[in-house]
Amino acid sequence: MRTGGAALVAALFVAAPTVTNAWGIEPHRQITKRAIAGLPVGLKAFFATRAAFVIEHSIDPDQWRIVGLKGDRGDEDPNHFLDIDGLDEPHPFKGVPRDWDAYVTRYGAERANKMGRLPWRAEEIYKLLVQRFQDVARNPQGYAADNVAYLSAALAHYVEDAHQPFHAALNYDGQLTNQRGIHARFETDLVMRNLATLKLTPVTIRPVPNIKEFIFDALASGQAMVQSVLDADKAATEGREFYDEVYFAKLLKGSRPVLERRLSDAASGVASAITAAWTEAGKPAMPVTKTTAPVRIRR
Ligand SMILES: [Zn+2]
Repeated sequence: MRTGGAALVAALFVAAPTVTNAWGIEPHRQITKRAIAGLPVGLKAFFATRAAFVIEHSIDPDQWRIVGLKGDRGDEDPNHFLDIDGLDEPHPFKGVPRDWDAYVTRYGAERANKMGRLPWRAEEIYKLLVQRFQDVARNPQGYAADNVAYLSAALAHYVEDAHQPFHAALNYDGQLTNQRGIHARFETDLVMRNLATLKLTPVTIRPVPNIKEFIFDALASGQAMVQSVLDADKAATEGREFYDEVYFAKLLKGSRPVLERRLSDAASGVASAITAAWTEAGKPAMPVTKTTAPVRIRR
C-alpha cells in the first residue's frame, strides 16, 4: 500500500471506516449514488433496481487492495492512481505514453508500476463492461445483467479515483511538503464533515470516445488542482496544533471550489463512462426486473 502496510490499513479500516487512501468509502458511495441517479433513459430503470448493489460494490476495488488481490499486471494497489507529474513530462502530460507497452518500455517495469496504472485498469474494466452489455443483448435474462451491475460498480470506482487530485500526484499525501495525511483529510474528512452543504452541479452525460484518454484527462486536470489544496492545508494549519474544527473550516474555505468541482465531475464521469460502454455495445434494452415466469424445458 502507498501510505502504510496492508495490515495497518486493514486495522484502520476496522477501527475507523473513513480512513483509507482513495476517496473514502462513504464519498465513493455518495458519488456512485449521484451518478446512477443521473443515468439516461434506457439505463436509469435498470440501475434504479440495482442501486444499492452498485453503490455498495463501488468500494470493492479498495477492498481488493486490502486483501492483496493480484491481477495480470501485479498488485491491485497501483490500479488506483497514476502519479502523472512524476513521469518527466510537462502538464498536460500529453507525452506520457498511452500504450501500456510503450509506457513500460519508457520508464521500466518497476517504475511504471510504482507510478501507477489507473488509465489502463479503467480501460480493462470498461472493455469487460462493453462485452457484458453485448451479452445482455443476446440474453437479457441471463447472468450478464448482474455482471453489468458489478462491472459498472468497479468502473465507477476507478473513474472516481481518477477525479481525486491526489491520485494524480507524486506528492499524493503531502509527504514531500511536510503535510502528511492531506490525502485523507481532503477526500474523506472534509467531504463527510460538509456533505450536507456541498454544492454539486447536476450530473451531465458527455461522450467518452476513448476511456483511457478520458482518464488521462481527468488525472491531468486533477493534478493541476493539487497545489491549491496543499496551499489551503498549509494556511489552515498555521498556528494550530490539531486538525480541529477551525482547521477544517479553513481547509474548506480554501479548497471548496476544488472539492465541489471534483465530486461533481466524478459523478458525471461515472455516468458518462457507463453510458459510453452501453452505447458502444449498441444500447441493448436492459431488463428492469428479473423474470419470475417459469422457464420452458428444452427438448
Ligand atoms: Zn481506489
